[in-house]
Parts: sequence; structure tokens; C-alpha cells
Amino acid sequence: MCKRFFSASAPIVKKKRGKMPELPEVETIVQGLKPKLAQQKIRQLRIYDSKIERMLVGEYLSGRRIINIRRRGKYIVFELNGDLDLIVHLRMSGGLLYQQNEPQSIRWVRAVMKLDDGFLIFQDRRRLGVMELSHSRSLDLRLGMEPLSSDFNSDYLRQKLAGSKRPIKVFLMDQTIVAGIGNIYAQEILFVAGVHPQREARSLNNNEIRKLVKATKSILAMAIKHQGTTVSDFQNADASEGNFQNFLKVYGRNNKPCLVCGTVIRKIKLQGRTTYFCEKCQK
Ligand SMILES: [Zn+2]
Repeated sequence: MCKRFFSASAPIVKKKRGKMPELPEVETIVQGLKPKLAQQKIRQLRIYDSKIERMLVGEYLSGRRIINIRRRGKYIVFELNGDLDLIVHLRMSGGLLYQQNEPQSIRWVRAVMKLDDGFLIFQDRRRLGVMELSHSRSLDLRLGMEPLSSDFNSDYLRQKLAGSKRPIKVFLMDQTIVAGIGNIYAQEILFVAGVHPQREARSLNNNEIRKLVKATKSILAMAIKHQGTTVSDFQNADASEGNFQNFLKVYGRNNKPCLVCGTVIRKIKLQGRTTYFCEKCQK
């Protein structure tokens, strides 16, 4: 009954090619939700998806207070009282939407959190998103360094790169090394750093490692400033969209001239993911 109830009207989430939100998009969502949800008490979590039902029991959340909302890698962490975290990963098509009134006609609703004031709605067209309960800090065991923290620096990266034969792009997307970088930002970072995406990770010299760290921090910070990149189902908590796609230097620019040198941007497949680069600027 509930599913029919929620699937009556036009979709809120735009249907474009599936791209997973990365650090800047998730950070934008967290910043949008924080003022609305912090210190609110959860009255009830209604789950409309058997997959989520297998991941968590809604009753555990009733009566708990949301102490804080933060991002860790590509995860959204709701810190609850009683040393418990509700962890959400949006994957390809998930979205979190806050609204004052009880949801009446929203498609692809997987769960609705009833709060003291308003409702938080978890939408997910492709049902790949994750919503699970966990104990505080458990994500730290699974994830690598936060790229915008001072701990992510040349020394750390040099130590991790040593001995790795993996292509540097694949290495940058490894969440156990650095958390939050995905397919789009890895390409932008490597372009700005002047490093070819296929280079063996261990082959980078000190100067290139320094450039890579610097590019990582500047690209991600700038993308956060522009509220992320909109090329997918991503939207912010208030259904607005980011605009960093207007600043992308290499991603998606196949056969277009490089913005730096004019050479035609090429694309290759790297571990199944389309990867754009300039063969003149990136060595
Ligand atoms: Zn170029």
C-alpha cells in the first residue's frame, strides 16, 4: 500500500546517467542536512524496502536523538545518542530529502524518518544505496585518510604508493587509501597534477606526489564550494543541484581541445571505467 502511495506523481530525482556522488557531493548534502536535523529526535523510521529491512531494524532508532551529522569518505554518518551511528551510502541513485510535511507523492521512497520537526526521506531509484546501523568510529577501520585533512600529505601518499604497480587513477579511487575520491574527481585531480592516469603508482617522483596532494585538496575544496558536480541523480537535501560540472577540465571532454594546450582529449578504459586525459599535459 505504501509503495503505491508514494509512486503517484512525477519523479523528483532527474533521470540521467548513473554516477556515484563523491566527496564534494556528499559533503554538500551533509552541510544541507545539518542545520535541519541536528539535535532532533527520531520519532519513527518507516522502511518500505525489504533490502533496507535486512540491514537495519527501524525500532532501534525510535526515540534516539541526532547528535551530529558528518561525512566520512562517501558515507553520511548520523551520530545518534547511545554510541550508535546510522550510516548511509547513496551509491548510484540514492538521495536524502528533508521536508516539513508528511511525504505524499514521491517516487522511489525506501525509508522515511519522522522527526520532531519534519521528515527525512531516503529515495533510491536503483535500490543500491546502503542504510545501516553501526557503532561509532567503525568506518575508520574500513576507510583510508580524509583527503582534506592535514594527515593526507606527501609523506603519507609516498609511503602508500611505494611498491604499488596499480595505475595511479585506480589507486586514488581506493577508499582504503584515501576516502571519498571516485571516477570524476580522480580524473580532474590527475589532469591538474599533470600525471597520466595509467602511470604505475610506484613510479611517481617526489615532485609529482606533491603536485598530486596539492591538486587533490584544491579540486575537492573548489568542488565543495560549488556544491558538487551534477551529472547524475545527485541533488542536495533541498533538491538544488551543484554546478562544478561547469569547471570540469577533462572529465567528459572526449575529442575536445585540452583547455591548457589544445591537444585533443582522449579517452581510455581503465578497470572498466571511461577515463579522459590529455596526453601532452599528463605524463
Ligand atoms: Zn593538454
